[in-house]
Amino acid sequence: MTIGIVGGGQLGRMLAIAGYPLGLDFLFLDRSRTAPAGQVAPLLEADFGDRARLHELASRSDVLTFDWENIPVESLRGLPCPVRPSRAALAAAQDRASEKRLFERLAIPTTRWRSVESRRDLARALSEIGLPAMLKTRRLGYDGKGQAALRTERDADAAWERLGTSPLIFEELVHFDAEVSILGARGLDGATVFYPLCLNTHAGGILRLTRAPYEHPALQRTAVRHLARVLAHFRYVGVLTIEFFVRAGRLIANEMAPRVHNSGHWTIEGAATSQFENHVRAVAGLPLGQTRVLGHSAMINLIGRMPPRARLLAHPGLHLHSYGKEPRPGRKLGHCTFVASNAHARDAWVRRLLTELAPDIRIP
Ligand code: AMP
Repeated sequence: MTIGIVGGGQLGRMLAIAGYPLGLDFLFLDRSRTAPAGQVAPLLEADFGDRARLHELASRSDVLTFDWENIPVESLRGLPCPVRPSRAALAAAQDRASEKRLFERLAIPTTRWRSVESRRDLARALSEIGLPAMLKTRRLGYDGKGQAALRTERDADAAWERLGTSPLIFEELVHFDAEVSILGARGLDGATVFYPLCLNTHAGGILRLTRAPYEHPALQRTAVRHLARVLAHFRYVGVLTIEFFVRAGRLIANEMAPRVHNSGHWTIEGAATSQFENHVRAVAGLPLGQTRVLGHSAMINLIGRMPPRARLLAHPGLHLHSYGKEPRPGRKLGHCTFVASNAHARDAWVRRLLTELAPDIRIP
């Protein structure tokens, strides 16, 4: 069975690496011949809107999936094999406004927000929601791109100058106690599995560190309920992620991703079945694997420059994943994971590694 994957980034590459032991084959389509997945599987080089090449990908595959969400939904219509997860789920996640409306319709608490398409909308949002706030492009934002924090009216003017050519959302700035995410999968038969909450540390809008499990039974139950509602709503097939802010013991949904997620990379070594394997199992119509954790995991992203491999591997217990990408400031080049028997040992490891790899990040 061949799984066609639109997008050949590190997520696609890790999907293929997880699927090979199951006897599955992979074929990618990406704009770049040097995309990370092309080093582990055949890759068609084409634009994501290139209907002829997408048709070729689909006709050579048994099922299509994708490794990022900014693919034109229309270009996935009418292909000769199923697309999983569905185009509807992809469309909802591509637009921050439809994502917010979905959360509201499914009674999942989210930030207070307004749609902004003009300077006058912005003025109204400022008076109704107030400052501090965030202004974000509705589409094509990731890793903190296409967004601005607004603390003063003057920030609002500058942000409008920079972002105002695209449809935007204005949302309250949440003074959160923590950022967490939940990942789960739904199979073709409707079965669902959920991973424990992950505790995420961002800087400049980019995920730097994830620790899991975030042990909070009440929040875990609520997060599972929210995620299950989205999975059921779309009759979703595959892995889905929701990111939340935690404020005063409550979850506030920030955004969702209809795919495997950076905050789930720890599951490769830290869970009975990784998020990547569960995604390929789901889209291939296979039974889902157990999500039980194997310890207390930490995942640190390697961003901008790759430390020498030997130096990293000198840390006992460190698992290294290098994506085969050219270094560039702000670019995710790899990650490393550590699984400990308790949270205390894990956090001691994290502190040590952060001093070496990311001294700007501190954990309490
Ligand atoms: P996003 O692309 O929406 O996930 O934003 C990236 C990161 O920016 C989040 O993980 C937060 O750290 C921060 N952020 C985004 N929106 C807000 C908000 N409304 N309030 C506080 N922090 C935010």
